Amino acid sequence: MSDRPYLFYELTNSLCATCLRKVEAKVVIEGDRVYLHKWCPEHRFQKVLISTDVEYFKLSRQTLKAGQMPRKFNTPIKYGCPYDCGLCPDHEQHSCLTLIEITDGCNLACPICYSESSPARVSSHRSLEQIEFMLDRCVENEGEPDVVQISGGEPTIHPQFWQILDAAKRRPIKHLMLNTNGIRIASDRDFARRLKDYMPGFEVYLQYDSSRPSRLRELRGEDLTDVRRRAIEHLNEHNVSTTLVVTLKKGLNDDEIGEILDFALKQRCVRGVTFQPIQHAGRADDFDPATDRLTLSEVRQQILKQHSLFKPRDIVPVPCHPDCLAMAYALKLDDCVTPLTGMIDPQLLLHGEGSTIMYEQNRPLRELLFKIFSTGASPSSSATSLRQLLCCLPQVAVPGHVTYNNIFRVIIMQFLDPHNFDVRSVKKSCVHIIHPDGRIIPFDTYNLFYRDGKEKQLDTLRGGDRLTSLSINGERTIHA
Ligand code: SF4
Ligand code: SF4
Repeated sequence: MSDRPYLFYELTNSLCATCLRKVEAKVVIEGDRVYLHKWCPEHRFQKVLISTDVEYFKLSRQTLKAGQMPRKFNTPIKYGCPYDCGLCPDHEQHSCLTLIEITDGCNLACPICYSESSPARVSSHRSLEQIEFMLDRCVENEGEPDVVQISGGEPTIHPQFWQILDAAKRRPIKHLMLNTNGIRIASDRDFARRLKDYMPGFEVYLQYDSSRPSRLRELRGEDLTDVRRRAIEHLNEHNVSTTLVVTLKKGLNDDEIGEILDFALKQRCVRGVTFQPIQHAGRADDFDPATDRLTLSEVRQQILKQHSLFKPRDIVPVPCHPDCLAMAYALKLDDCVTPLTGMIDPQLLLHGEGSTIMYEQNRPLRELLFKIFSTGASPSSSATSLRQLLCCLPQVAVPGHVTYNNIFRVIIMQFLDPHNFDVRSVKKSCVHIIHPDGRIIPFDTYNLFYRDGKEKQLDTLRGGDRLTSLSINGERTIHA
């Protein structure tokens, strides 16, 4: 008898990457790597790498926190996950971060774009009335939404852009973000000045993938180096809180992670960097999933390899959605940058069994940590929670003046696509998009099934025109 060449760790449901049918998936560990083994009756066996770090993978499985419910759910459970979005009552996490797409038009036509935006779609600007309706649905679900991101397409090309920001500001949203490619900010100095008026509780989420012209051309279709430089210059001038957002493609720009962190740390306005491996959805020209996909663990390993700031204990799974989100904090104090775990006992941040007990013994501390390591935490709320946390820890000399200017946060945000899709995990997704009809849908499933006309394919996937039966020899057959 011979052993299997892997350890069968757990079972979940995924999607066939070809037909998007829901299929069973084994999670298996092979050496240092974790894979999904999927089987589609039509498209056969599929093996997908989901982690390159077994220890971290297990840590993220242990990072458990009871999900938080939205005030209301929006759709019934009818066909089963992921065909009932949403949010349906089976979803396990409220919206920590909600995107509202105010247009599908854009002043770029990036070869990789999950929303398939381009200048050809500028007529798709949503009306102010519809945007107000969508904002209201978000407030209805969340009460006081943690983070709302004004997104697109490119939101700054919307003719009623300022009115939309005002409409968002009128609502009880704790933190507002502008998701932008930076062209408008770079070309108009006054634009950045005007954005400053929306602070505090406002932040720019700025596309910043590379400083190499050829790489930018491959990712964005244009050399945007000068746009990036001028946008940062204008945001620095007015100290407008900014997070750099780096879309990562394996073998293209994943060797720039350390360089980008260095650059970010030197910018007055930058409060952190978010690294996002490409989600294989929407327009994905020349994207080969076999070679170009990156897992969260690979990005984490590259951060540790390419920059000396963080140690492995610093970059931890985010309890809201630990499979897909990792986070690290540092404090920038008097020209000195210190990782958060340099200031507190790392056991408090690691979610192993031992520390879970410590959390139980010290509930306020646990609550504070969950608050800080949450997708819904903004630089200003993190600064407040960090101040409180540091005060709770007698061994720490508390820097009395911690504000969001002192926060530097690194996030790895991975989205599920047809390859790594995991029904267990998607139920915890806390980054959601407001559908124009008012539904609130996880980012992952929105881009696969619910964007534009894609929902039509759900008729088939939901089983409406299919009959599943078992043949006499037990083989599963599907009759279309
Ligand atoms: S992803 Fe969430 S909202 Fe969508 S069907 Fe699954 S549980 Fe429901
Ligand atoms: S990725 Fe962003 S900047 Fe590029 S086309 Fe899409 S919306 Fe525009």
